[in-house]
Amino acid sequence: MLAKLSLIFPFCLAIHVTAMNAQTASETPLSADLARYYFGSPEAEITARTDLDSALKRLGNFRGQINTGQHLLGALESYEQSLELYRRHESYLHLRCSEDRKDPACDANAKLGSEVNAATAFLSPEILLIPEAQLHGFQSAEAGLKPYQFALEDIRRDSPHTLPGTEQAFLDRLQPEIADWQYDLYEQILAGIPFGTVETPAGSLDIVRQRNLLASHADPRIREEAFRRRLDGFASRRDLFAFALLRTVRAQDALAQLHNYPDAPARKYISMYLKPEQTRALLTSMAEHGDVVKRFERIRADEYQLSNHAQLRVWDLAAPQKDLPLPITPLTDAPSIFHQAFAGLGIEYQKAFDALLDPLGGRADILPGGAPNRYAGGFSTGFAGSASMLFVGRYDGTFKDLSVIAHEGGHAAHRGFMSANGVKPLYASGPSFLFESFAAFNELVLADYLAEHAADPRLKRYYLEQWMRIKGLDAFYGAQDALLEQQLYEGVSKGDVRGPDDLDKLTLRVDSQFSPFPAITGELRNRWATLSLLYEDPLYNINYVYGGLLALKYYQLYAADREHFLPRYMALLKNGFDAPPAVLLRQYLNIDLFDDSLLKDDLVLLNRRLDQLEAGASN
Ligand SMILES: [Zn+2]
Repeated sequence: MLAKLSLIFPFCLAIHVTAMNAQTASETPLSADLARYYFGSPEAEITARTDLDSALKRLGNFRGQINTGQHLLGALESYEQSLELYRRHESYLHLRCSEDRKDPACDANAKLGSEVNAATAFLSPEILLIPEAQLHGFQSAEAGLKPYQFALEDIRRDSPHTLPGTEQAFLDRLQPEIADWQYDLYEQILAGIPFGTVETPAGSLDIVRQRNLLASHADPRIREEAFRRRLDGFASRRDLFAFALLRTVRAQDALAQLHNYPDAPARKYISMYLKPEQTRALLTSMAEHGDVVKRFERIRADEYQLSNHAQLRVWDLAAPQKDLPLPITPLTDAPSIFHQAFAGLGIEYQKAFDALLDPLGGRADILPGGAPNRYAGGFSTGFAGSASMLFVGRYDGTFKDLSVIAHEGGHAAHRGFMSANGVKPLYASGPSFLFESFAAFNELVLADYLAEHAADPRLKRYYLEQWMRIKGLDAFYGAQDALLEQQLYEGVSKGDVRGPDDLDKLTLRVDSQFSPFPAITGELRNRWATLSLLYEDPLYNINYVYGGLLALKYYQLYAADREHFLPRYMALLKNGFDAPPAVLLRQYLNIDLFDDSLLKDDLVLLNRRLDQLEAGASN
């Protein structure tokens, strides 16, 4: 746990979708001006590390010395100074490494990260060891500790789950052998599968790397072949995948129990300030309302039948609409689109986004067509003392690319608001789902704006469907995976899930609640093997559930009464994370994270939007 004192860069899982049309790479890119905002040159960055070293040394002086309120304050302040300096180096190196993955910045960044982690690792355990009465004494004697109240509580709530120092040190040392090898194995198995390519009139396409291109291909035979061969490839190593997955579950459960949690899901949910029973009940309830996803698939099927005179199969879900060339937005048009799309979010938000995308501002790095050795996904940087920046590895001008800018740019804007408001470094990050909810809300606003302003009714419909598919149903797609994962942990601990056949059955049972296709498409039973996140970041899926539900909730509040919502939403963005998520949501937006109304209200919104789609289809 100890999330607040972890230096790991919070990552954002914005998955890059290969574009449908190749982009003319001649377009002018947006380039980040690293010299202006971070360091003048790679050498200057290396020289500046002496400041970071000094800050870490000051922090190190408190090792074994946190015996007064003043010392505790000194340690926390030194930690924050270290964090602020470190994040400046980290952002700079991360940006350089993403521009060119062969840049020495990549190794330097990894090395710096582990050095800083090692130098700061003593702090949380020492704070945990302070007896309760003594800590209270520190707090009444040193008024400067007041702003750190929540940070201290956040660390201390881990105390019933803390092992004696030597035991924890052993576990940390063995972590790669206990819990990290499973994902390495997963990648090895995957790399060994000869998926091959599918022949298309425009040349052969890679079944794995270019699967989005294949899934949205105009020819249904090509889509079908790509779908079957990808899942058959996974099935060909199902024994090994099952081995890696079941060992992931056992390792996570064993670690959780060793730390006095009933199981790994409970440990994960509690770390996010969620209530395990409530989270499990929510997932069950979402599965009971899985009809909302089925309804969207049915609307797509009717539409497909009408235009293609054929029955929609699972590989047709991303099929392009007949005779509708998809809009491609040149990068030079993106700033003005966002200027208009985010006008609805108020002048302050609009200005922040304008500044981010200003070609002369040097705070965005977006490359049309991408480049070899360049990271293809998107992310943002920004922290107290460092300008926020937006990176998009490959821009092809599709709606999805604009949506990535809305999302990642949303993270950058949020970081910028926190920094400008003087949020303490310890409160600049919080539970991922809350962080993600703000970025996802931007995507809903963007899709809606484009739908409203589309001149062609077919294009309007396209954007309304994207609203639903890309973000509207995100919470439910997330719930499908999170429920599968939750039941996987339960099944393994009861002894019901022991091998690939059991995993197939479990997947069929869970997925059938959200879609009619698993029951009639044998290959889909293998879906558990394709969910790499289950292996890479166990139990992360729950973030999509709460993040998606909250984004829809913001959208309702925004649509219902913009003038009431916006100042409160902005205040929440600027506040940072100095309280548990449920407290912040209640305080600023009067949202009850744990009440049934969250799901209920979202379902009303989704069904109303589905009504519109249905009515539009019959016209
Ligand atoms: Zn994100």
